[in-house]
Amino acid sequence: MLTLALVLISVLPSCGGRRPGGPGVIHHVEKGENLYRIGLRYKVPAKEIAKANGIRDVTQLRPGQRLYIPGARKRLQASARAATRGDSPRRPSGDSKEARRRARESARIQTSLQFAWPVRGRLSSHFGMRGGKPHEGLDIAAKRGTPIFAAESGRVIQSGRMSGYGKVVVVKHAGRYRTLYAHASKLLVRKGEFVERGQKIAEVGTTGRSTGPHLHFEIRRAETPQNPISYLPKRG
Ligand SMILES: [Zn+2]
Repeated sequence: MLTLALVLISVLPSCGGRRPGGPGVIHHVEKGENLYRIGLRYKVPAKEIAKANGIRDVTQLRPGQRLYIPGARKRLQASARAATRGDSPRRPSGDSKEARRRARESARIQTSLQFAWPVRGRLSSHFGMRGGKPHEGLDIAAKRGTPIFAAESGRVIQSGRMSGYGKVVVVKHAGRYRTLYAHASKLLVRKGEFVERGQKIAEVGTTGRSTGPHLHFEIRRAETPQNPISYLPKRG
């Protein structure tokens, strides 16, 4: 009976849905784990973990998947086996089995992310080489003040001025993806905030190295610029 009471006491603080207040960690899903169990262990509501990782179908969770746990302070391992394996997200991979696992994982995550167009406007510059220099995103011309929407749900990791980019927002998503929205006239979100796909996060402007009002939009995976066109739906 006493044990039950202690268990209840230790579980209760997580019932309010309040986050522990840490910076968040990446959790590696182990066999047999599910979102609710993971949420309980980190004291973060499962719903919030699902939202932060763009998971709509909770049965999608698979061993090896990386989950961003918002607000958590410390990564918790599911099992002793996982702890002794000592894998870390930064470990360079010479192991082909590990490389294959990662490729599968990234393909899976890629399909669960659904990027949407961040602004309505005219495509004025493509991704790729431009005047002998790489252009690491898309330029979409629009009037100053046109709303800029988050292309996918995630956590704002930067909102402020950056040289060249002017006023810029960077959002981190599942699967080591991030999106960047540059040259804004106005920033409407703060670092650390969670945003949903389609949420207004900024307004078009021409701050930084820019010749007229437009959005410079980037999608990066593990820092590497991707061609946003391959991730965005066809424009109607
Ligand atoms: Zn650009």
